[in-house]
Amino acid sequence: EWRRTPPNDRVQYFYKMKGLLEEHVEELGCIITEECGKTFEESVGEVRRAIENVEVACGIPMLLQGYNNEDIASGIDEHMLRQPLGVVATIAPFNFPAMVPFWFMPYAVACGNCFILKPSEKTPMASEKVFELWQQTGIPAGVVQLVNGGKEAVDRLLEHEEVGAISFVGSSEVARYVYGQATAHGKRAQCQGGAKNPVIVMPDADMEMTAKIVADSSFGCAGQRCLASSLVISVGEAGESFPEAIKAAAASRKVGYGMDKGVEMGPVITAESKSRIEGLIGQWEKEGAQVIVDGRGCTVSGYERGNFVFPTVLENVDPMGEVAGIEIFGPVLGLIQVADLDEAIGLINGARYGNMACLFTDSGAAARKFRYEATVGNVGINIGVAAPMAFFPFSGWKNSFFGDLHGQGRHAVEFFTQTKIVVERWPREWSRKF
Ligand code: NAD
Repeated sequence: EWRRTPPNDRVQYFYKMKGLLEEHVEELGCIITEECGKTFEESVGEVRRAIENVEVACGIPMLLQGYNNEDIASGIDEHMLRQPLGVVATIAPFNFPAMVPFWFMPYAVACGNCFILKPSEKTPMASEKVFELWQQTGIPAGVVQLVNGGKEAVDRLLEHEEVGAISFVGSSEVARYVYGQATAHGKRAQCQGGAKNPVIVMPDADMEMTAKIVADSSFGCAGQRCLASSLVISVGEAGESFPEAIKAAAASRKVGYGMDKGVEMGPVITAESKSRIEGLIGQWEKEGAQVIVDGRGCTVSGYERGNFVFPTVLENVDPMGEVAGIEIFGPVLGLIQVADLDEAIGLINGARYGNMACLFTDSGAAARKFRYEATVGNVGINIGVAAPMAFFPFSGWKNSFFGDLHGQGRHAVEFFTQTKIVVERWPREWSRKF
């Protein structure tokens, strides 16, 4: 029935949903801060990015337009139509409980599919609220559905023969598993994984501005962002000035409860996550790195049982060591020094992840070389979090992504539809009758 609902009628629910999300931005922001730990400002920012995707999906009557060729031979026309897949599902991570589902949900539904969301078991409350708002739009029952649970729920969705496509966002290990299982069961799959997001700082960069932007990227959302930069590669003389600049920016960051005014960074998601992150800092030290800002063992007054890890910076990180290659997913930044841009790009291109890489420079030639050569899905030039707007597709390369079509924008429309080619013959002599 939903498929038969004209696209123009489908998007009426999205206009209502946009209004409802706007009205509930602050309420959703509070829920996210309470369950996820990030600051209220970060939570509200996340909801705004979710709304952007609803806005783009409102354009679906145009985005769904196919191709037509008349008279490919005498009296024969050919068309390409886009039709929905049926039922599709998204499996989401904990770190952006409102935004990540919206990379997929509005497009899937606007294209005429019914949609199932399996949120993270660590942050289920933001989705509860979003689905309450869906109900208020009057969208027909069953068009959007919420299923809570962990691995068991995921496996059931991966095996279910009526689920036509899986969108996954989470760690690379699980992304690889979900991609393998989904495709083995004949489904389309787009699976976004983990990241390291290295940043190159050239000697001609404005050090103060660079340190401020890198600090926001590395320590914002307590480093639990798939676009958080967690390695800085300083080129030449930048290796002398950058560590001092980032040290000051890291040490001055205000850590605390996300609803308190002036707090710039909240806790990490769980006690296990805190001890994993602190363990990896120790391992980096054993590999020869020096901790120049130490965020281990710190507490916030009034919240002594909180899972706080304060901003941490390590110098002289071994680029070939184990920790430089794995995702820490906490507010921890490693510093590496190299002789030139070629060596820096070589490190990025040799790494297992390919979500984002950034360059800070004053040189157009360096920027062009970097943009051209870096083997990552998102490039930032003098930007610390190169998150695409909702009308651009979003995802990484290498072990940061398994699949081909990405989330958001036109890629999402292609992912959530299948094309049908129609060839029609209406001989000219038949039309003479009319
Ligand atoms: P996670 O992989 O632990 O969990 C993600 C989802 O998979 C959850 O819904 C969870 O219930 C499910 N899951 C977990 N283990 C499973 C298993 N063994 N089998 C089946 N399903 C399983 O990830 P997380 O800790 O919630 O989120 C953090 C990770 O997500 C980080 O690695 C981060 O980089 C990544 N992430 C990536 C992007 C991106 O765009 N590339 C965006 C956000 C987060």
